[in-house]
Amino acid sequence: MAVSGGLLCGAAVVTLLCLLNGAEAGDPVQWGYDKGDGPSAWPDLYKRWCSGRKQSPIKLTTAQSVYDPSLDTYTISEPAYAGKQYKILNDGHKVLVDFQNMRVNLSLNRHERECFRPHHVHWHWGDKNSIGSEHWLEGKQYPLEGHIVMWDCRFWDSFAEAAHGIDGLAVLGVFYEIDNSVQLSPDRGIGEIISFFDRPQVSSCDQCVNKDYNNPGVNLPAFSIKELLPKDMSSYFVYYGSLTTPDCRENVMWTVFREPIKIPQSAMDKFRNLSMPQNSTTGLRRPMVNNFRGPMPLNPADPIGARRQLSRSFGSDVGAAMAVCAPDKRLLVLAASLLAVAGLAACRG
Ligand SMILES: [Zn+2]
Repeated sequence: MAVSGGLLCGAAVVTLLCLLNGAEAGDPVQWGYDKGDGPSAWPDLYKRWCSGRKQSPIKLTTAQSVYDPSLDTYTISEPAYAGKQYKILNDGHKVLVDFQNMRVNLSLNRHERECFRPHHVHWHWGDKNSIGSEHWLEGKQYPLEGHIVMWDCRFWDSFAEAAHGIDGLAVLGVFYEIDNSVQLSPDRGIGEIISFFDRPQVSSCDQCVNKDYNNPGVNLPAFSIKELLPKDMSSYFVYYGSLTTPDCRENVMWTVFREPIKIPQSAMDKFRNLSMPQNSTTGLRRPMVNNFRGPMPLNPADPIGARRQLSRSFGSDVGAAMAVCAPDKRLLVLAASLLAVAGLAACRG
């Protein structure tokens, strides 16, 4: 998306919002996270994809995944960020930071010559700390999950094209967990983003991100994508799935890191203080919470033959346990053989 002028920029923001809302041209369906328009209604509202067989999120477990030694640590080549701007928006479903077409290339080491360009990051969270993340890790749901949405710049010229293309997107998922001993810097990463939730773009806060949705956005200084990723970028899961919001398009290569980023409770509370669109009947402000979809089956039973593989970059504890058990197994075989020989000798005797 080559954006330079104000008109083009406006068009790009509209395109972005349409894509993120799943409300494509001529599509009158609106969705949300309530009973009638929430995740359980999406398969009916968005028939083409939301009831598909490669849906996201899923439950991530070591036991159900396959170790792939070719999955190496991620490398990121970034430009100089000084003087550049990102834009933070509340789209009514979630809060997101648009990277404003920054030319950052991520090379996923397994695909060395491939090219992925981060487009935006958004989050999903709950109204209490026991729920909120979309993916589950070893049976656990985290209070917050960030999604860095990237597009494949080998085959596509823009996010808008890639978002509609086959295998056009890749998303990095990051869990957050609460640790009140952590102090976030207001000048870096998630700490800086949160500090912009209630920062006025002009003089009043009428259009602050925490008060207003579908606002034009608030500028914030650009920063390294690495600030939104955990320290350990070598341990992660990979699988092929979908967007977790309508239209649930199945064109996403998912990478979800195992190590959560730690944030204090006060930072989590800032997310819960964001506003969703007002209640249409009462006109009352509603807190933006529980904007997550529950886990979908990795391998749906129907249609028959729907099989997906969940890969992991790290050796498993199960593997380690088996390695420890292996000599015991050999001993068992040896003991069984000795018993057999003894039995034969007894028979002959
Ligand atoms: Zn998401």
